[in-house]
Amino acid sequence: MVGTESNEIVYDVVVVGAGAAGVGAAVALKHAGIENFVVSERRKVGASFASWPAETRFITPSYPTNSIGMLDLNSIAIGTSPAFSLGVEHPTGKEYARYLRAVARFFEVPVRQDTDVMQVAKVGDGFRIDTADETLQAKHVIWTAGEFQYPRLSGFVGSQLCCHTATIPSYEELDGDDFIVVGGYESGVDVAYHLACRDKRVRLFDKGCPWEEESSDPSVALSPFTLERMREDQFVEQVELFPHTPIESVTRADAMYEVTARDGHRFQTRVPPLLAGGFEGSHKLVADLFERRDDGSPLLSEHDESTIVPGVFLCGPTVRHNNYVFCFIFKYRQRFAVVAKAIATSLGLPAENLEEYRKWGMYLDDLSCCGEECVC
Ligand SMILES: Cc1cc2nc3c(=O)[nH]c(=O)nc-3n(C[C@H](O)[C@H](O)[C@H](O)COP(=O)(O)OP(=O)(O)OC[C@H]3O[C@@H](n4cnc5c(N)ncnc54)[C@H](O)[C@@H]3O)c2cc1C
Repeated sequence: MVGTESNEIVYDVVVVGAGAAGVGAAVALKHAGIENFVVSERRKVGASFASWPAETRFITPSYPTNSIGMLDLNSIAIGTSPAFSLGVEHPTGKEYARYLRAVARFFEVPVRQDTDVMQVAKVGDGFRIDTADETLQAKHVIWTAGEFQYPRLSGFVGSQLCCHTATIPSYEELDGDDFIVVGGYESGVDVAYHLACRDKRVRLFDKGCPWEEESSDPSVALSPFTLERMREDQFVEQVELFPHTPIESVTRADAMYEVTARDGHRFQTRVPPLLAGGFEGSHKLVADLFERRDDGSPLLSEHDESTIVPGVFLCGPTVRHNNYVFCFIFKYRQRFAVVAKAIATSLGLPAENLEEYRKWGMYLDDLSCCGEECVC
């Protein structure tokens, strides 16, 4: 590791990453009465949101419902609402980053920006957190480094020839008239929609058929916001859908990209195919601290703590319990207070203020009630 000597402070908690999960978990720590902690953020608060493609908006709507004790779906802290502070229903990433910065300021969250965490190791009863410049020590770690900055760039032969949607600053900047998009869930449909609005032709491939998925869980089926956009004239006219068509390879010859499907069909384009195939996630950096589930995500205790290294916790969209996927803010925020409570208890603090989270429906500690589907 490059850097200075270990500093002497032993934090009660180091939170890694200041996105929606890191800032939300940090506010819950404050409500739990924990003050001796720091959030290490490799760039700035809300950095991932700030680097979404400029046109991409939240699919989950925001609405200021706090006056009747219901939190805005995209809120990460009691008493705050992106709809109220931004005045929009479907914020862009940049707008939402502004909301996160305002929350961090309001709750005086201690964020160390430009502090890239390279490694976390268990040492004795605590943790050593190596950043690019120094070493921090802590009794507990909450890993909230997210997924967006760790896109999945593999998956089929030649996938490195494609351009991942998470690396595109703006769809407006994409040259060409004839696009192939691999991956038909939210990000794939989003890019197809914006290209269609600019009169581009798009062929959209998915190994399944997310737009016909019947589940009421938005972690599985497309959101109403997206389904509405798919019904717009421009989308219908410009976008050709290829469901149940897994891609096997991409090759390049004579300035053409050839995309071959598993069923042998070949498709050509002059523009690098766009990859909307999801994220590997940052948890690969701390893979040695967690057991793995069969689906590759970290195995967590009922308090979202590692099952093999006590003291390290996970918050954010990678949290899974049984078949429940906590990939949206309104889902994973339910676990901030659960984690804060577990850490407060281990520090001998009563954490009574966390009862407020329960009142606001932001404290899901009984996982047996997850996964109920809508019946109509
Ligand atoms: C395009 C897109 C649209 C989405 N739309 C919605 C939506 O409408 N509604 C919804 O609820 N969810 C949505 N999600 C899902 C989810 O809410 C986001 O993925 C969200 O960003 C997750 O928050 P996070 O805090 O876990 O991760 P991030 O926002 O990625 O935050 C992680 C932070 O950690 C920092 N970091 C990363 N690595 C390190 C390191 N090694 N050391 C220090 N800091 C580090 C990063 O700079 C970043 O600031 C969307 C996701 C994507 C990609």
